[in-house]
Amino acid sequence: MHCPDCGVSIVAFDVPAEFVDCVPGDTSMVGLCPDCLGLFPITAGTEVPDTPEFERISDSFPTEADRAVAMALLVGLLENLALYRSEISLLLERVERAGADPLLVLDRLATDPGIETDLDLRGRRRQLEQLL
Ligand SMILES: [Zn+2]
Repeated sequence: MHCPDCGVSIVAFDVPAEFVDCVPGDTSMVGLCPDCLGLFPITAGTEVPDTPEFERISDSFPTEADRAVAMALLVGLLENLALYRSEISLLLERVERAGADPLLVLDRLATDPGIETDLDLRGRRRQLEQLL
């Protein structure tokens, strides 16, 4: 499946049950666009790789499943920080517990030339600092 905005192939992954309510659509699978970092529902029947290709998002994106899924959801929900405040703070905790530093990952995404997002990653990072 391709990003409706950029046309690049999005990185599909399964959403853990507890976060299904905060992702778009009513499927349990979503995809993050490696270019604009948009989060999109994956329609049933779409062919997706068995293993999510998180390394396509950025060289600095975690690839270990627990970290990567929580981090990808976190990035996808940043646009709606006000709405998903509690989910986002839970995701921050998850990423940390899985052994990665979510704010450091955001810093690196913000300087990755391969990412062209409308999200103000630096501004969001400052807001996240206050949630920790
Ligand atoms: Zn995109």
